[in-house]
Amino acid sequence: MDGVNARELFAAQRSLTYDDLILLPGYIDFGIEDVELSSKLTREISLSTPLCSSPMDTVTEAEMAVNLSLLGGIGFIHYNNTVEEQSQLVRRVKRYENGFITDPIVLGPDDKISDIDNVSARHGFSGIPITDTGDLGGKLIGIVTNRDIDFEQNREIPLREVMTTDLVTAPQGIELREANRVIRESKRGKLPIVDAGGRLVALVSRTDLKKNRDFPDSVKDDRKRLLAGAALSTRPDDRERLDALVEAGVDVIVIDSAQGNSSFQVNMLRHVKQAYPDLQVIAGNVVTQQQCAALVAAGADAIRVGMGPGSICTTQETMAVGRGQAAAVYHCSLHCREQGVPVLADGGVRDIGHIVKALAMGASTVMMGLMFAGTAETPGEYFYQNGVRLKRYRGMASIEAMESGGGKRYFAEEEKIKVAQGVSGMVMDKGSVRNLVPYLKQGLRHALQDIGVRSIPALHSALTSGDLTFELRTMSAQREGGVHDMYSYEKPALGARESN
Ligand code: IMP
Repeated sequence: MDGVNARELFAAQRSLTYDDLILLPGYIDFGIEDVELSSKLTREISLSTPLCSSPMDTVTEAEMAVNLSLLGGIGFIHYNNTVEEQSQLVRRVKRYENGFITDPIVLGPDDKISDIDNVSARHGFSGIPITDTGDLGGKLIGIVTNRDIDFEQNREIPLREVMTTDLVTAPQGIELREANRVIRESKRGKLPIVDAGGRLVALVSRTDLKKNRDFPDSVKDDRKRLLAGAALSTRPDDRERLDALVEAGVDVIVIDSAQGNSSFQVNMLRHVKQAYPDLQVIAGNVVTQQQCAALVAAGADAIRVGMGPGSICTTQETMAVGRGQAAAVYHCSLHCREQGVPVLADGGVRDIGHIVKALAMGASTVMMGLMFAGTAETPGEYFYQNGVRLKRYRGMASIEAMESGGGKRYFAEEEKIKVAQGVSGMVMDKGSVRNLVPYLKQGLRHALQDIGVRSIPALHSALTSGDLTFELRTMSAQREGGVHDMYSYEKPALGARESN
């Protein structure tokens, strides 16, 4: 016997985690460019990149969701906010058009130069459109660029006195390629897009066009809008939230609960499928086949697996309930595959190897909080501590997050004494997901090549047939598999680097 298949690996019923196992290599007769990473998120939705971001208030709002969707994955907008705020974030994803800024910062004629200074300091850009109302949708009356205010000593002068009124604009509905041409030929930095009544509806920026890349992998609906996901709790009054999210155009809902096998979840799931039969619903979180069966029977379009593996999570320590993530994903996937329901492996992913192992255990997609925490696209500001650039990352069951509404996930909202199942902390700056995701994808392609499979469905077939082989790792094997015996070394940063 040279390695064991998954059935044999889990025969002893141990709570194995990703680090406990290793995949044995297969035969390579293809290049990494032949490896295909598309995979099913739900029964009806496929992604071109099998990666999702967690519905957490320090991970996913519109910017993360837009960028992940452009890169072929999907972000789930958290619900630690009002119904109006969450649906507005979904609307921003659905309205996003590559190259068009549909929510530009706008000022009014009575605002001061100092207001422009504030915008520049906070957001690092200039070239602010001025409308009569000071809002998007107001009549465009000017634009203020650096050149208008560079040498002005008095920063209290109203913008009406310094703004440029000789404007080059483009009409609503213009194609990006055409907008690009106008910007090039007019040599302007910003091109305001106006409707027939001269009202500002969007802005195109020269710097964006310069950086503008194609996103061939982006996932879109049939109206060519990016896909948007959002979280919903199991509380009955979240039915109102559901209606608002659907109204905003959400494509897929994740019912976000730490222990998904509950009457609350089953009732919510049935309600969603009854009210909106075409809306895709991911149910969870679960870790056993019995839990999966209940949710699949109630109409789930995908199952989210994970109880306790999260980097910010203390559930297993506090509640003594959960399961090693490799075991959870394997057993749940085994059941769900028979039902034709994809599994999303949620939490506990620290590196590309963990993503590979999640997929090799039968998951079709992988959800990550930690991996994306600290990227430029997460909510929150960067700050420095001891010279290191950091961002906050917190569990939704940390005391801090529960106090601002995150307790919905843990049936803990109304409790006077709150038992935390998560921590709040900080992570290092990881740069942009636009570099991180291509890096993860390239790593995944190499991994699948080493295993000898060209796609995620092929990986799953090998898992089912028993051709995919594994071994348990001893503690010393784990030590040997990491960097060791170096005097010092530099850990390579996550993120894509172009090689020459
Ligand atoms: P990570 O990628 O390892 O950081 O795990 C992220 C996942 O942890 C999320 O998608 C949630 O399922 C889960 N999670 C989020 N907040 C908490 C918490 O406070 N306690 C336990 N699990 C959490």
